[in-house]
Amino acid sequence: MIMEAPPNDIDLYEVLGISRNASKAEVKKAYHKAALSSHPDKVGESERADAEIKFKSVSKAYEILSDDDKRELYDAQGMSAFEAGNRGGMDAEVDLDDLLAQMFGMGGGMGGMNGGGPRPTGPRKPRRGEDEEHPYNVTLEELYKGKTTKFASKKNVICSLCKGRGGKEKAKPRECVACQGRGMQQGLKSVGPGLVTQETVICRSCKGTGKIYRDKDRCKKCKGERVVEEKKVLEIYIPRGSKEGDKIVLEGEADQLPDQEPGSIIFSLVETEHSTFRRAGPDLSAEVQISLSEALCGFSRTLIKHLDGRGIHVKHPQRDGEPLKPRSVIKVSGEGMPYKKSELRGDLYLIINVDFPGADWLKQDRRMEKLKELLPEPADPIQAEATDEVDYVKMANIDDFGAGNEGDQWEDDDEDEGGQPQCAQQ
Ligand SMILES: [Zn+2]
Ligand SMILES: [Zn+2]
Repeated sequence: MIMEAPPNDIDLYEVLGISRNASKAEVKKAYHKAALSSHPDKVGESERADAEIKFKSVSKAYEILSDDDKRELYDAQGMSAFEAGNRGGMDAEVDLDDLLAQMFGMGGGMGGMNGGGPRPTGPRKPRRGEDEEHPYNVTLEELYKGKTTKFASKKNVICSLCKGRGGKEKAKPRECVACQGRGMQQGLKSVGPGLVTQETVICRSCKGTGKIYRDKDRCKKCKGERVVEEKKVLEIYIPRGSKEGDKIVLEGEADQLPDQEPGSIIFSLVETEHSTFRRAGPDLSAEVQISLSEALCGFSRTLIKHLDGRGIHVKHPQRDGEPLKPRSVIKVSGEGMPYKKSELRGDLYLIINVDFPGADWLKQDRRMEKLKELLPEPADPIQAEATDEVDYVKMANIDDFGAGNEGDQWEDDDEDEGGQPQCAQQ
């Protein structure tokens, strides 16, 4: 039986439906999607031949684009770099084992490679299936309090009726005629106009097992596929104090295949931005508004609602404290993020913003005069040689400072300064 190979003038990026500057993660994602949809076992008999070609193209595209060296070579020379006989920096043979391991890891339902008949290459050791990694968004509240969540997931499990054999209990499989029990076949691969080369491909009749059950002997539950899709409720537990990038591993929960240790499902935590709090390791910071009266005369009130809903009551001044200037920082010890598996907590830094009264308020009831009487005298006048009175002052934004400069000779200096003033918690 001859399996057609993908033509050599294919655009691998097009095959995976990605752009030429796609990241490695995008390559992998596109590959999983394309491989699942084009898997020969997932289509009807009439479309199988086409699906096989597509499936091979997709696998080949992934094999090359997921490897930095091969991808560079492909970008430079196209598929010709990988044709048989061209040893331009790489082995043109695909490592079929690796390719299959990748395929099995993603739940293609193709049946295992192992446990098949005698193999010319000797017995294969069971491989571990590929881990499935997913990002998982969590809010700062969830990281503060911890979270347990359940969700339904579909995965392939070994068929419980036939224990993964694929046949009925007493039925004996026959040796696969197509591959004489080897699980592999020779196929012809086109390497150019009118040129073909032989290559070894997985047997599509027995899916690499070397054995085949008669139709009537096939397991009724899995129809000979050896695995069945099962819905499973998975539970993940995010310990309080977890942070961005922490991994929650569900050991062995990825797709199962006969003779293979299943991989894990791994959730990588992504901390979503919070509207009030910023996190820096175990510490939290937040900006709070106080009135000018509170800044000068003090206060005793709930300044902020914490991530667990508690109000944080702050009294200021404590004993003989100073008035609070704008951007001053109050540190509330032990009200930061919890440490994992500990009662310890980081600290909370409250950055003070002072609401000044507006012009309308000042204009009323001779308030300006009264305030002048109450507030401290201005500083002594600056002694200068001569004084120019300017009358074109106006309100401005500090962000505009320096923006009028032509050219960019100042920019390097700016970067060296480190930019914005830093908050106290950093
Ligand atoms: Zn079965
Ligand atoms: Zn076979």
